[in-house]
Amino acid sequence: MIRRIDLRGRLAAGERLDYRTLVPRAPIDVEAALEAVRPICEDVRHRGADAVRELTLRFDGVEPPRLRVPQQAIDDALAGLDGRVRAALEESIRRARLVHGDQRRQDVTTTVVPGGTVTERWIPVQRVGLYVPGGLAVYPSSVVMNVVPAQVARVGSLAVTSPPQKENGGLPHPTILAACALLGVTEVYAAGGAQALAMLAYGIPGEVEPVDLVTGPGNVYVAAAKRLLRGVVGIDAEAGPTEIAVLADDTADPGHVAADLVSQAEHDPLAASVLVTDSEALADAVTAELERRAANTKHDERVRTALSGEQSGIVLVDDLDQGLAVVDAYAAEHLEIQTRDAAAVAARVRNAGAVFVGPWSPVSLGDYAAGSNHVLPTGGSARHSSGLSVQTFLRGVHVVEYDEQALRGIADDVRALADAEDLPAHGEAVTARFGDE
Ligand code: NAD
Repeated sequence: MIRRIDLRGRLAAGERLDYRTLVPRAPIDVEAALEAVRPICEDVRHRGADAVRELTLRFDGVEPPRLRVPQQAIDDALAGLDGRVRAALEESIRRARLVHGDQRRQDVTTTVVPGGTVTERWIPVQRVGLYVPGGLAVYPSSVVMNVVPAQVARVGSLAVTSPPQKENGGLPHPTILAACALLGVTEVYAAGGAQALAMLAYGIPGEVEPVDLVTGPGNVYVAAAKRLLRGVVGIDAEAGPTEIAVLADDTADPGHVAADLVSQAEHDPLAASVLVTDSEALADAVTAELERRAANTKHDERVRTALSGEQSGIVLVDDLDQGLAVVDAYAAEHLEIQTRDAAAVAARVRNAGAVFVGPWSPVSLGDYAAGSNHVLPTGGSARHSSGLSVQTFLRGVHVVEYDEQALRGIADDVRALADAEDLPAHGEAVTARFGDE
């Protein structure tokens, strides 16, 4: 079911290995998805609510009674929430607030010279739109992961949008609405996919105020729409179909490794599950466990498609050093370290959306209740981007304040650099303040 890529012995044979092309990667055709979402975004831009309603009927099979979810429906969802789920969501929110509360930035003033200061002020984005997926699965956990950092950052105004569900009369899933209620979110829309993001980016006169930034995970159409709308609005990193990589040695428990690989494969047929190991015995045992688990799991078809896809695989390496080079090249959204001295190995990782250390930190803990954020960069973008955090919702603004003496002290340098760039008016803006002295 899952393919193998055997890199053992190849370095010793003198081969130069380009791990970026050797690691498994989803054949996700974002270009094709871009072509699919371009007309959707244009339609919403020009025809507003009518377009959103028609596209929702086409893609979600239901027409929401209205785009904005009435407050009564949000309150009812909370009233009807299962007690165990409510307690779990409350604990997830509490832990996320603990972690994200520690991420708050302080304004910093640097005195560059006497009388000359630069202050970095952290100002929250004014209005944000938070996408909560709800196609193949529903993600109340993503409400927590989007809303908590935005609230900690003190964003002025936030709107949540999630695909409407046929079974819920065209409203988003009740657990998503209940999670919004627990977090005090009152502006919620019943829209999913590219049409939802276009609605938030362009706004709909009289119905939806445009936002300054959209964040949140989603499928390939959501990721493509974010890429397309970037510029009209700000976006967070592309958080597309989920990925797990496990770096393991012969101390890892094959049952745990297989369970974790399956747990992420159940998100999406395009999800990626990758094991990197120097132990052939572990690889064999995990393969057998995957067969057993895939046959007995609820979303078996999705899991089999994901595990047997090009994006998944078991990579056999000579040793952990090569394993680290492979996982760094892969830059997984989620990376588990299940080795001897796991903390020391984890400390050497450079590229990953989030790292899960040792046998007791499975990715599903981070999906729901570790306190960490689960909206994480996919598709290798962990090489340059971070997951969602308080920082995503802040802008750092430099406030420059020099007095006369401080400016006089640097005036010659400004003029010299202005001349070097052949922009003399820049120098003259300084000279004008001091005359011919
Ligand atoms: P979703 O809400 O992302 O997508 C559903 C929407 O997709 C629909 O409302 C529809 O508008 C659109 N759509 C479906 N088919 C389309 C088509 N042919 N053309 C245009 N639009 C179409 O829900 P989902 O599908 O369940 O996907 C959720 C995704 O989010 C999964 O891939 C999961 O792995 C991912 N996820 C990622 C992270 C992360 O941080 N990276 C976290 C949670 C979930």
